[in-house]
Amino acid sequence: MLFYKNIVLTCTQYATAVSLLLLLGCDNVDESKSTKTVKLTTGLQVCESLNFESDTFQLSDSNDSQLDVFESLFLNNNAYQLPGNPTRENLYAFFKDLRKGYFQKDEGIDYSFVRKEYHTFTHAMDVMITTHALLNSGGAVYLNSGERAALVLAALGHDVLHTGVNNSFLIQTNHAYFQDIGGNSLQEIRSAKYVLQLLDKHRILVTSDAMNDTQINEIQNARNIIEQSILWTDIKRHKEQMESVALAKENILNLLNQERLIQALEGIAGAGKIDINQGLNLSALLDVDTKILIASFILHCADVSNPGKDWEKCERWAVLVMNEFFSQGDLQKKLGLKPSMNCDRSVVSVPGCQVGFGKFVIRDLYVLLQEILHDGGGYLLDNFNSNQEKWKVLHTKSKESASPYTMIFLPPSKEGGWMGQLRTDEK
Ligand SMILES: [Zn+2]
Repeated sequence: MLFYKNIVLTCTQYATAVSLLLLLGCDNVDESKSTKTVKLTTGLQVCESLNFESDTFQLSDSNDSQLDVFESLFLNNNAYQLPGNPTRENLYAFFKDLRKGYFQKDEGIDYSFVRKEYHTFTHAMDVMITTHALLNSGGAVYLNSGERAALVLAALGHDVLHTGVNNSFLIQTNHAYFQDIGGNSLQEIRSAKYVLQLLDKHRILVTSDAMNDTQINEIQNARNIIEQSILWTDIKRHKEQMESVALAKENILNLLNQERLIQALEGIAGAGKIDINQGLNLSALLDVDTKILIASFILHCADVSNPGKDWEKCERWAVLVMNEFFSQGDLQKKLGLKPSMNCDRSVVSVPGCQVGFGKFVIRDLYVLLQEILHDGGGYLLDNFNSNQEKWKVLHTKSKESASPYTMIFLPPSKEGGWMGQLRTDEK
């Protein structure tokens, strides 16, 4: 417990540290230091404010605002410290390169049809912030400092190089990426590989001869978490992941409750904020595979967390993802191919699709999440239940020709990664 307290410097503790520095150094601060302090304080405010309710569109609106978030998490607050302590310069350069990867347009895909409005850098930022919120709401109990940092970084990179079409399309069109990688977790493999390459390029999470075995293990473990958690974001592996987590659940919760008992701590069912506040951490007691499973589960939940946000965000993201699917369907029709599932705008109902996705994928996922992460899972589940009711009403109405569902298209900003143009019917 003492160890855990030593390695976690929370945003609040950081605030105290900054205030002390200000008090001690205020007579003698030159201009560069003063600027630095202002920047650090801004970073602190951003870090403290990041939660499930953050407006991630606004936070991703410009390159500067995106950097503010990244700095607040990785550079200014020690909220997330990667093993090997990469330099600030290397972290900045990594961020710049990673971001660029979300703006890539690929050969063999007609971007006058495919507008990539969901799988943008804004989605990456949204998933990173939600992963941070899930860790803060209980998830941090299961992972050590380096593992948490690796997971938040994986969240930012999980869809890098995404083409804007799904894996089925790349297989159906015999795309060069399919020929190179094969049909399983095609784009997830590309993203994971690319993130690891960028880490090597920028000397982040790389081992050296000067390191001892513990340091080398920490780095290898962090890289493994990044790779595996990105691969697990393949929605085709959803069921497999649910089964694995359900199987591991009893042991995880037994361990959690045992530790609460040993340390005489209060606690609710799954891990929650109360456990974090009391300094509980199980990372040394869990085996590596279980920690990778929990980390991957957190990232997968963050990746599909839109249905568990407030209605405004839930609907906005739903429209974006459906629009991206529909643009793929339009391209498939143009190529004389059968549109993939949920991609044909002439037959798919947006509210109907959300009701179905919620019923068959999301509900059980959030219920399981709540069992392991009580507070974060509960937040998503409560919103999800209320959003589902709204989608059901809209679905019923949309079946009546008098009031079809109208998609209100609010794309991310251009700097947030949206690369398309509005169609005439959207202007
Ligand atoms: Zn994603």
